[in-house]
Amino acid sequence: MQPVRSPRQSKIIDVVVIGDGIAGCLAALAARKRGANVVIIEKSQANVPHGNTAFCGGALRRVSTEYSAERYFADIMKVSQGEADDELTRITIRNSRRAKANLSRLGIRWTLPTSNPGRADSVVGKGARLAPTLRQAVRKAQIAILYRTAAKDICFSNGSLRGVTLRSRTATHTMPCKAVVIATGGFQADRKLVTQHIGASAHRLVLRGYKNSTGDGHRMAAKLGARLIGMDGYHGGMIHYGYKKYPVVGQERGMRSVKKYEPGILVNRLGKRFVDEGEDTADKTYAKFGRMIALTQPGGIAYLILDSSWKDHVNPMYEGPEKGPVEAKSIGELARKLNIAPAKLLATVDRFNTAARDGTHAQMTPPKTNFAYPIEQPPFYAYAVTGGMTFTFGGIQINSKAEVVGTTGASIPGLYAAGEVTGGFFYHNYPAGSSLTRCAVFGEIAGRNAAAFARKNANLNTKKRSTQAAQKT
Ligand SMILES: Cc1cc2nc3c(=O)[nH]c(=O)nc-3n(C[C@H](O)[C@H](O)[C@H](O)COP(=O)(O)OP(=O)(O)OC[C@H]3O[C@@H](n4cnc5c(N)ncnc54)[C@H](O)[C@@H]3O)c2cc1C
Repeated sequence: MQPVRSPRQSKIIDVVVIGDGIAGCLAALAARKRGANVVIIEKSQANVPHGNTAFCGGALRRVSTEYSAERYFADIMKVSQGEADDELTRITIRNSRRAKANLSRLGIRWTLPTSNPGRADSVVGKGARLAPTLRQAVRKAQIAILYRTAAKDICFSNGSLRGVTLRSRTATHTMPCKAVVIATGGFQADRKLVTQHIGASAHRLVLRGYKNSTGDGHRMAAKLGARLIGMDGYHGGMIHYGYKKYPVVGQERGMRSVKKYEPGILVNRLGKRFVDEGEDTADKTYAKFGRMIALTQPGGIAYLILDSSWKDHVNPMYEGPEKGPVEAKSIGELARKLNIAPAKLLATVDRFNTAARDGTHAQMTPPKTNFAYPIEQPPFYAYAVTGGMTFTFGGIQINSKAEVVGTTGASIPGLYAAGEVTGGFFYHNYPAGSSLTRCAVFGEIAGRNAAAFARKNANLNTKKRSTQAAQKT
């Protein structure tokens, strides 16, 4: 391995990695392991939690004795409705066990969530532990991270990569390099990109993760002719409405998705039901319902109405500021407390109760296919909910080597991407725990190939220089 040089000493960096989330850190470590001189550029402050990696739940889906590669593949294809890239998915799954083992070697410890033993391991301490552990490993490998420094442009001339333009608090300059790995995360925090690609009201979704995931990598790559794919997809979920009023609290402590609402009914501000709450179990519907509430219901808010027989069942799911519930002795009183016209809410609850009692709940409009229990035991409760945005699915198209693919279909030499900034993995929904896996797997692949590209380029340049020298003599 070559000795580590600080970015100031070296003229040309082998591999510049943009972003110090899980994808960026693992790319940097893989490139360093192959002898490359690596620098990470990170726009955030070192001592402030940053990147979605720091906010995540830490579930990592991997193949195990109880969870076969075939089932993993089938799960991704099912939720993506067959749109996920076949090759990238297979590579992710094939390397999922190794990705976990690599993380363990870096000091990550794991716990198994009992509800889902076959499918995902969870990082002890979640993202709040994962992110600092990765950065510690990076520092141990003597890789410099330049904090509070944003990559603004990736520069090419005559078809060759020249460097990355950086802006720090004091200066703007170009860092010359041979290869670049873009690992800048999603664009969920960028209002312009979100409304352009996801929908006019998409900014109403409450950001569950990092507030500066602004699609910088998407923009830099697109400027260079990279192909962006699947840009309208994202992962969201139903969340407690209090986070809309106090998003900072949620971003600091993490926002839990609400996945227990089946026994109640969801009504909007007009006191009307708008969805089949019992279409399936909540883990299969919470993303869809969250989106529907935020994007289509008045004020982007809904209330889960239930009676005292179910309160203890759902209550532990609700946390955060003003988590509720609102309690009342009658439905009329509950409506008044929620600022809903009492007659409207009473009519909705009466209609639902009649259908639940006489077994016609699956035929009503909207139906309640399953879990239809009359709301009749006072006191009555209401939990306010809305939709949250976890991360965007769309991004830079890459191939199996993590090379950035251009709009012509050819890869862009020297340019690699990994993690949430890449597209092609998830559409419509994603199986929980598989984003960290693809970030880890493709971070490693990107770093390894970027280092190989830099080495090959160095050899070519050396050869070119000796040929030129020979020609001169
Ligand atoms: C609440 C929540 C829970 C989640 N739970 C899970 C889970 O349990 N399992 C799972 O698989 N996934 C989960 N995810 C998703 C997962 O966390 C992310 O997909 C993953 O961490 C993304 O990693 P990344 O390295 O691609 O990007 P990030 O971790 O977002 O890192 C990108 C970094 O790039 C930096 N950056 C951006 N632009 C620039 C620039 N111009 N110059 C320099 N630096 C820049 C950013 O500051 C950031 O630090 C969750 C997400 C959230 C929000």
